[in-house]
Amino acid sequence: MREPSFGRRAAGLGRRLLLLAILAVLAAAGAITLRGGFTAPVARLEAPVAVVGRATALAVTVDSGRSGLRTFRVELQGAKGSTVLAEEEFPRDGMLGSGVSSRTIEKVLDARSAGIEEGPATLVVHARDWSPAASLRGETVVLEQPVRVDLTPPAIDVLPAQHYLTRGGSEAVAWIVGEDTVRTGVEIGSYFFPGDAGVIADPNGRFAIFAMPQDLDMSARPKVIAEDAAGNRREVPFPVSVKDKTFPAEEIRIDDQFLTVKVPEILAANGLAPAADPVQSYLLVNRDLRRKSEERIAEITRDSEPRTLIDGAFRQQPGSQVGSRFAERRTYRYNGNVIDTQVHLGYDLASVKQAPVNASNAGKVAFVGNIGIYGTAVVIDHGLGLSSLYAHLSSASVTEGQEVTKGQEIGRTGDTGLAGGDHLHFSILLRGHHVDPVEWWDPKWLQNRIVAQMSAPAPTPQPAAAPPPAPAASADRAAAQAG
Ligand SMILES: [Zn+2]
Repeated sequence: MREPSFGRRAAGLGRRLLLLAILAVLAAAGAITLRGGFTAPVARLEAPVAVVGRATALAVTVDSGRSGLRTFRVELQGAKGSTVLAEEEFPRDGMLGSGVSSRTIEKVLDARSAGIEEGPATLVVHARDWSPAASLRGETVVLEQPVRVDLTPPAIDVLPAQHYLTRGGSEAVAWIVGEDTVRTGVEIGSYFFPGDAGVIADPNGRFAIFAMPQDLDMSARPKVIAEDAAGNRREVPFPVSVKDKTFPAEEIRIDDQFLTVKVPEILAANGLAPAADPVQSYLLVNRDLRRKSEERIAEITRDSEPRTLIDGAFRQQPGSQVGSRFAERRTYRYNGNVIDTQVHLGYDLASVKQAPVNASNAGKVAFVGNIGIYGTAVVIDHGLGLSSLYAHLSSASVTEGQEVTKGQEIGRTGDTGLAGGDHLHFSILLRGHHVDPVEWWDPKWLQNRIVAQMSAPAPTPQPAAAPPPAPAASADRAAAQAG
């Protein structure tokens, strides 16, 4: 009796245990299902954001499950409250939901216009999807990122000096910037000349050679600009006396010989097909290839040694006669009709055929090869954005990367590219923009306008304990100057 009875009890216990086990499995499966159902959308920052300022680029992506996104909101929570930076809603579109499984919001944040105070803050992303679980869950915080709100642009202290600029000419300026600066330089019109560190003694000192490019509106005035990582930007105009200059006009008559022999030659050398008629082919060279050649030069001269490599004033090609000057306004005529106008951006220097061409100053060879209308050319980097171009060469005798001394032979004159006869086209460029070489050939000008600024006096040091600190003082000065 005992045994069967025990047997029946054991069997009953076994069934209950089995039932419990099944229930446990079902509960676990249910929990997994529910948790899966409650999976909230996931957000990520496409680029890290640590500081938010007046122009901070923000890109947030939210990924959602099968039902798709329903709402998406980005807020910045500061000490005094919260500001909505971006908000989007995605309406139901079909059985499942919106069908929007991923969405990126890209925005340039301006914490100042949004009325957010400087200091610590949190970037918060809320999102909700169309899953049934979201009705229970509601909107969820899917990303929280601590940030710092910084609305103070970097300090700029332009070192005191008299500045002079002539149309087409160059000038230099030195300044001290705040340590949070990520980009600084001289802006004039749409032109930008970056500042180099390590030229003047101060570790936060910057120095730039800049220009008043010949095509600039005479009302344009230079200013030093500085930007920090948060997109805060300060602009400090500085006094400069600007002198206009008129450039000579020149007429160039294009003859049939040039159109039928030289032009096809230039087109072929640059892999271009001739146009329907010879004048159109000529314009392909004089307009399109000219523009492309300048783009190529800008590319070649983009990187420059952050220190000066020059050895005194530039030297004009010895024994040469000036054919054309800088910024001559050229009118091109064919059979008496004006077919084009262009500006000549350098000096044409002629002597004998295949005359030796010398480096006009010390530097490093940045380029040797064909540059469109300039034919076989050599470009020398002289540091601090300054370079020289030697064009229409019959041959070059230097290689890229080679260091050259002033007066060293680098090639021979010729008539490659858009040249009517054997001569040297010589240009001086600043950050890829042609400037008037006349100034650079003048030792007195070089000393007074460029070299003297490199040893500009440092600003009066402020006593360490005396408030306000230097950056605030220069900020006031900057505001006064900007006004
Ligand atoms: Zn020329």
